[in-house]
Amino acid sequence: MASERQIDVGGVPIGGGAPVAVQTMTKTETANVSATVSQIERCAEAGADLVRVAVPRDEDAEALRTIVERSPVPIIADIHFNHTLALKALDNGAACVRLNPGNIGGPEKVAQVVDRARTLGTPLRIGVNSGSLPRHLRELEFENPVEALVTAAVEFVELMERLDFTDFKLSMKSTSVPNTIASNRMLSERIPYPLHLGVTEAGTRWTGSLKSAVGLGTLLADGIGDTIRISLSTFHAEEEVKVGWEILKALKLRERGPVLIACPTCGRLQFDMDSVVAEVERRLEAYDEPIEVSVLGCAVNGIGEARHADFGITGAKDAGMIFSRGEPLKKVPTERLVDELFAEIDRYYAAGKKIVRDEHAASEAARWLADNEDATAMTPERLAQLEEAANREAGGGDELLAAGGVRPPTGPPTTLDEESSPVAGRRFTRAR
Ligand code: SF4
Repeated sequence: MASERQIDVGGVPIGGGAPVAVQTMTKTETANVSATVSQIERCAEAGADLVRVAVPRDEDAEALRTIVERSPVPIIADIHFNHTLALKALDNGAACVRLNPGNIGGPEKVAQVVDRARTLGTPLRIGVNSGSLPRHLRELEFENPVEALVTAAVEFVELMERLDFTDFKLSMKSTSVPNTIASNRMLSERIPYPLHLGVTEAGTRWTGSLKSAVGLGTLLADGIGDTIRISLSTFHAEEEVKVGWEILKALKLRERGPVLIACPTCGRLQFDMDSVVAEVERRLEAYDEPIEVSVLGCAVNGIGEARHADFGITGAKDAGMIFSRGEPLKKVPTERLVDELFAEIDRYYAAGKKIVRDEHAASEAARWLADNEDATAMTPERLAQLEEAANREAGGGDELLAAGGVRPPTGPPTTLDEESSPVAGRRFTRAR
């Protein structure tokens, strides 16, 4: 269930139906102000709405004042164990302070932080981690880690409510993807406060991105989660931001910059698509708008599969084609495919977002496409033609079709030849 409450973190709304915010955490020593600020700037450029910095020492809390002044996005201070650092971070302008009530030294110290946050109008993030649950939940954690996480979170929420403080979001983090999903699902049914999602210590860029996409993507698809952080073992925090955005873009929760579609390639590939895709991806970084660009390795399936793309390339051995929204634009030599693609994209923007078509070049490209298509491939267009022909042959039912209906299939039902099937023996049948 989506959160009901909304909080404001330095001008970024979190929860209550606001767009899911992307955040990350700097990897620098916070007291090294220039290194920290330049990493924050790179993260903001990559699309971070919020950036968190670790505050383990007095000098880090001191550095916060300058960092907050120079940062292009609101800064969240991450505090463990020492409530005086939380107080200093609040005084030094942090837009939010993340603390774990279980390790900050007891309810009285939590109350002091809450009082200061209330006075300054600064929200808090209550962070519960599977590795640092309160002592009385350790046994439960062993038996039922999900229940233990949710119980800790609910206890902290009750503490905040006893302190008459509701300006907070909550996170429960686990290294286990199933536990992250189950605990957040359970908690979202029990509290109205915004949820921050993350799979903690997710791993490298490769495994961490996948674990986060599965865990966070599942929750976000259910409408759970108001802000996300992807935890990756890389010094480049902006990589976490990029992955976060890809998850939101994949779920169509937010739009940012172009969307690149590229075929997986196969034995029909006839040009160096790896380098073409990498180059297209690199050059698309200069564009802010959510145009869709497609790269197909060959014309076997025509361009029907990428019909929705604003612009695309399909290649062959010594020539390729630029197309737009399913229509050919021009045929070009393979080595000029990328340059010509971007020339067309720039022409589109120069014309006020209108496709500029040279009819002569477009019809030459259409002829080339027809010559290069695989006559046996089941493209959407070919399937439609075959269906139409079959309908004509079968005759009758035209009234039904005219009314938008679907003609019932004729002939015996299709059976699978298990002997010759390439997936023979790998199918399974669900009992129910
Ligand atoms: S578009 Fe062509 S090269 Fe790419 S996967 Fe499909 S058939 Fe293979």
